[in-house]
Amino acid sequence: MNQFPSQLSPIRWQTLKPWLTTIAVIWLLGFVGLGWLVKSFLFLIVFFTVVPIVAFFGLQWWLTRNLVQGNCPVCQEGLTALKQSQVNCPNCGESVRAGDSTFERVSTPGTIDVQAVEVMSQSVDDD
Ligand SMILES: [Zn+2]
Repeated sequence: MNQFPSQLSPIRWQTLKPWLTTIAVIWLLGFVGLGWLVKSFLFLIVFFTVVPIVAFFGLQWWLTRNLVQGNCPVCQEGLTALKQSQVNCPNCGESVRAGDSTFERVSTPGTIDVQAVEVMSQSVDDD
């Protein structure tokens, strides 16, 4: 049953056979005059393998250029949004605008931003 001298040969033949058949069919089609069919089929295969890869990397490139990751200026919650877009913080509900690299608070008209100052209290001990 084993007509091959090496043990690997039958396995190699099994893997080679479909490729040889494919090449033979393509050669035959080209010989008959259906080379255009083979070419258009190959074009479709290349098209449908290359386009998703290009789209994937293109989208990734676009996202890295247009996504802003930062912290909410009010509660320091991590936020992710597209550049120049306005989002509501999921943690505190404050509406913030994504700048070029950070998030800025969108203050509604009439709002005055007040800087809070912490005053240290000293305990007075009565003896
Ligand atoms: Zn927040």
